[in-house]
Amino acid sequence: QAVFQSDIGTLLEQVGTGKESLSFMKRRIRRLAAQWASAARRLDDKLHNHWREQKRILVHVGFLTEESGDVFSPKVLKGGPLGEMVQWADILTALHVLGHNLKISVSLKELHGFLGVPPGRGSCPLTGPLPFDLIYTDYHGLQQMKQHMGLSLRKHKCHIRVIDTFGTEPAYNHEEYATLHGYRTNWGYWNLHGQQYMTMFPHTPDNSFMGFVAEELNETERLNIQRNKVNNMAVVYGKEASMWKGREKFLTILHRYMEIHGTVYYETQRPPEVPAFVKNHGLLPQQELQQLLRKAKLFIGFGFPYEGPAPLEAIANGCIFLQPKFDPPRSSLNHEFFRGKPTSRKVSSQHPYAEQYIGRPHVFTVDFNNSEEFDAAIREIMRINVEPFLPYEYTCEGMLERVHAYIQNQDFCSPEAPFPPVNSSGAWLGSPPGPFILLPNSSILTWASNVSYYTSWPPLSALQLLASLEGQSCVKACQSAGLICEPALYRFINIKEAFTALDFQCEGLELEMNHLFPAFSAEHAECGLQQDPLLFSCAGSSAKYQRLCPCRDYRIGQVALCRDCL
Ligand code: UDP
Repeated sequence: QAVFQSDIGTLLEQVGTGKESLSFMKRRIRRLAAQWASAARRLDDKLHNHWREQKRILVHVGFLTEESGDVFSPKVLKGGPLGEMVQWADILTALHVLGHNLKISVSLKELHGFLGVPPGRGSCPLTGPLPFDLIYTDYHGLQQMKQHMGLSLRKHKCHIRVIDTFGTEPAYNHEEYATLHGYRTNWGYWNLHGQQYMTMFPHTPDNSFMGFVAEELNETERLNIQRNKVNNMAVVYGKEASMWKGREKFLTILHRYMEIHGTVYYETQRPPEVPAFVKNHGLLPQQELQQLLRKAKLFIGFGFPYEGPAPLEAIANGCIFLQPKFDPPRSSLNHEFFRGKPTSRKVSSQHPYAEQYIGRPHVFTVDFNNSEEFDAAIREIMRINVEPFLPYEYTCEGMLERVHAYIQNQDFCSPEAPFPPVNSSGAWLGSPPGPFILLPNSSILTWASNVSYYTSWPPLSALQLLASLEGQSCVKACQSAGLICEPALYRFINIKEAFTALDFQCEGLELEMNHLFPAFSAEHAECGLQQDPLLFSCAGSSAKYQRLCPCRDYRIGQVALCRDCL
């Protein structure tokens, strides 16, 4: 049984030393320890001492290994990306606090040791059973495991979870499909289950949302923040000088109203990109950045970096986040940064999560090319007062709850019961056999959800079947009904009865590998079923198809979990 543990001593020892990245993570773990401990107590109460299985977990942080070049560690103190480090520190803490048996590896040598692969024997495969229930790694780590575990990786891959900042859609992940249909990228195609990829924000429901945490405030801190806010103080999002390049125009407008602060890394003198009227503090330790954000009224992004933790921290400290809208949205098709990333996602602003999940009054997303709109936004921001806000899913309790639910329920190793429950000669399997009903509109698989034969997670009772419009993805279709697409439930709607339930008349029925299937083509009155479950995908759309979408409800502030998911 896993028992919550709030003492972080052993975790800190395990993280090790010798790299700036590890020191950064340890400072963060220490700083947030009390917050994690009180969250653990609350979750423990909420789960009513629910029995939780203790798992043997290996965390192999591939991008920090020397063998992958470790380009991050030397930049920790120089304005390089810190979001990944923030997330890994929080993942480690969550797993530790949840009470699992944790091993941490940041080198190939440690990886070999933990897996029991003899060192120095190249790609000698792991012969015995895998000594872990779960392995959290990243794309670099996956590559290393392939090299060093050889074929046994394929055997054990259902235990792997890939921490993947921007996400990987099924079409890109499926080797044969990606190769045939132009979805190959340098990130590879690992034929994993889409939900084995875990993202930093809930980008696409095809992946699992792992997230990270931001600092939480107690009542006194909230009051102090409100008392000490400086109405005309702005902090610029961007710790590297290049992020400021070409932004003079906006900075000049902003400076008409506000005092501007920056935290741009510099060695000896002010970077030329940062105008003289900006008060530059240099790169700050996380804690000092928080203090600055507590005073500031505005946190402003100029379009880069994308989708980092800092805007959430700013909003949590009572700032308003002002950011540019991207019109047209940026994606791997039209934008250098996203080119070659295994996703078709369209990024509508610098921080789409802030835009879509938080929004006004905490987040203003405007067209920066329109000076009037920009100017008006600043004036409005100075007029209004906002409270600090942090979505539940980014609190320690929210992250613990979500990671707990994944660990106890997600299972990519066990074979699934066939659906519908008939064998090849059409006889019913399981019990009790009975009529198979799909209700239109309310669209609940009444029969199936009453049968305990299906132990799906999320539970079948959460399923609501919808059809997308032509040209619409299931992500959007579910969203417009106030629901979220749930790929784990696709297998229950990949049946001809689902078309009937939605009043689609199938003249023909085909079974095909197509990441848009199941779908209906009005032009040919053809119904298409998905042939390969690995291609079940919420993302993706085509003007030719109305897609069948498995939607589900979600908890307010915890989009990863349905109402009955805990
Ligand atoms: N950060 C910091 N000092 C600074 C600026 C930022 O410690 O002067 C931290 C910040 O608290 C955040 C992290 O850097 O948690 C990552 O920030 P960002 O959103 O910029 O994402 P990145 O691009 O680094 O992944």
